[in-house]
Amino acid sequence: MQNANYLQYTGDVLRCGYMALYSKDELIDMIKEGGLRLTDHRLLVLEIVSKQKHPITVYELVDLLRKKENIDQATVYRNLASLHEAGLLRRLDFNHGHAHYELETGRASHSIVCSNCETIEKVEGISIDDVVKKMLKKSKKFKETRTHSMELYGLCRSCA
Ligand SMILES: [Zn+2]
Ligand SMILES: [Zn+2]
Repeated sequence: MQNANYLQYTGDVLRCGYMALYSKDELIDMIKEGGLRLTDHRLLVLEIVSKQKHPITVYELVDLLRKKENIDQATVYRNLASLHEAGLLRRLDFNHGHAHYELETGRASHSIVCSNCETIEKVEGISIDDVVKKMLKKSKKFKETRTHSMELYGLCRSCA
């Protein structure tokens, strides 16, 4: 796994981020380890999602895929669903009424979402494991938790 730092200049907001880049072989291994059959389309979907700096919507994904290959929307949905079920993709809602997907890296990564525009910023490296442990301790019905998703909502610098 390779790490890439990126700087993104959007208007007057300079965002610093951190992104992990996976090789094709690593993605192929992930699909196999997830117990899924390796197909060209499945690999392509995983590859594109893994390269995004932000969680990608199905619509954006379909658009990007159309430029590369003739792949219909139903196939994209099917592959997203199977990759999500196999635990390779994280599905996020952001109160937008549509799903966003990102690679399940197992690393702490949470997003801050603008309630006014489309700005989403992924903040890496801040773990809420302690909060999760506390919640589980207080919980009366649960013995364990497996995954979590946490998003914060607010106003970005342009909208504030
Ligand atoms: Zn959205
Ligand atoms: Zn905004």
